[in-house]
Amino acid sequence: MTVIDLESYEDALATYDPVMGLEVHVELGTKTKMFCGCSTELKQDANSQTCPVCLGLPGALPVVNEIGVESAIKIGLALNCEIAEWCRFARKNYFYPDMPKNFQTSQYDEPIAFDGYLDVQLEDGEIFRVQIERAHMEEDTGKSTHVGGATGRIHGASHSLLDYNRAGIPLIEIVTKPIEGAGARAPEVAKAYVAELRELIKALGVSEARMEMGQMRCDVNLSLRPHGREAFGTRSETKNVNSLRSVERAARFEIQRHAAVLNSGGTIVQETRHFHEEDGSTTAGRIKDNAEDYRYFPEPDLVPVAPARDWVEELRRGLPELPRLRRARLKEEWGVSEHDMQSILNAGAVDLIVATAEAGAPADQARKWWMGELARNANETGRALDELGVTPGQVARVAELVAKGDLNDKLARQVLEGVLAGEGDPDAVVEKRGLKVVSDEGALSTAVDEAIAANAAIADKIRGGKVAAAGALVGAVMKATRGQADAARVRELILEKLGVEG
Ligand code: ADP
Ligand code: MG
Ligand code: ZN
Repeated sequence: MTVIDLESYEDALATYDPVMGLEVHVELGTKTKMFCGCSTELKQDANSQTCPVCLGLPGALPVVNEIGVESAIKIGLALNCEIAEWCRFARKNYFYPDMPKNFQTSQYDEPIAFDGYLDVQLEDGEIFRVQIERAHMEEDTGKSTHVGGATGRIHGASHSLLDYNRAGIPLIEIVTKPIEGAGARAPEVAKAYVAELRELIKALGVSEARMEMGQMRCDVNLSLRPHGREAFGTRSETKNVNSLRSVERAARFEIQRHAAVLNSGGTIVQETRHFHEEDGSTTAGRIKDNAEDYRYFPEPDLVPVAPARDWVEELRRGLPELPRLRRARLKEEWGVSEHDMQSILNAGAVDLIVATAEAGAPADQARKWWMGELARNANETGRALDELGVTPGQVARVAELVAKGDLNDKLARQVLEGVLAGEGDPDAVVEKRGLKVVSDEGALSTAVDEAIAANAAIADKIRGGKVAAAGALVGAVMKATRGQADAARVRELILEKLGVEG
């Protein structure tokens, strides 16, 4: 492990101004690949989802995926971009075994969308505008697995396996203009931008944008310049950062590293860097000067993309409410604080709560269950809320049973536990586990009589006016009824039978 000198974050910011550029790749959720009819379904046998086009066989002719173009336009419009009236694909030439054509079909100087912006909200509520340079269409490469070495890297491997199932899956690359003026908040802006972009992509329905699955990944470009200087410093480019937290940490680390290099009289090398999840550090990748030559040229096998203006306008009219505005509206409707709304968002619960409310539950109940019992379970089992196997309809039913008085909170938690354990719908769990509030007055009355008889000393105290002691008797009845009694009613009965006022 090489030791990298770091300046303290505060000292770095006292001297320098960070400038960032974020490049985000989004894998689209189209059924088929960008230039052929192969399926994009994951986890299939290696090389089972391939054809002459995505294997780059001589003479194969690609055809553009219309949904891919449509998705790109939707993303461009949602990012307030201009949509090109006419643009072409380009060949980005380089050799790597995971790319059998020896060029990546991408877009170069004619991106489908350009000159936009995205407003992102920082933790204190401030809105920061990030300018968008371009959003363009391209394709993913295959996947190499290096076998026989200790590290899984190519160095030391005895051979490599290639799976081209991913080759040709559509990607949209979204590139920001240099982000200036964020100062010490640059890492926070980077994180907020990627978070907002992810919400936007999900709202558009063009990708699930799961970062942990590589469906969305971010390259963090960063440079420093002394306060008051206009010219940008030399940037580093930390590649393939794949969580929101890592985006923030990578930017922070690079600020501290750049400052240390510059303060010691060194120069920053323009290079790519790898991010390390374990300690939040970055290490050098390959040197990348601007002279890098991919011999880009227009792709001769694909027709230009010239989206009709009325199609573009139709797509614009169909855009969903922007996530930031939708959150503001829901926050108002639900009457929650900014902080609570942020927690709901971080937990991935916004849509689930909305769907639960749509299924008939009051929003505060929906929120209570998703952010309480279910969030706890998700945390414990390391899953996302929408991976728990509990549906909004089921949560709404639990809320309904509570509202009707059939369940109390404690029983409701047990019902959810049963649903989580795969025991079926709430009603089935109630039935199977025998979980119902005992509301039968006769049964309750008997249970209360028994508790009084068994706890004569306590009963006497209560008779003598020590009403607070009633809690112990309520506890005894709840225990006897396995938590299935309505505690408030039990308390009333106890006081009634002992002849004291509550
Ligand atoms: P590359 O192909 O080398 O990745 P791009 O132009 O696609 O270059 O992306 C570079 C990203 O870095 C863009 O977001 C751009 O705004 C940003 N950028 C360019 N120069 C600098 C710099 N000196 N410091 C920080 N960010 C920069
Ligand atoms: Mg780049
Ligand atoms: Zn194919």
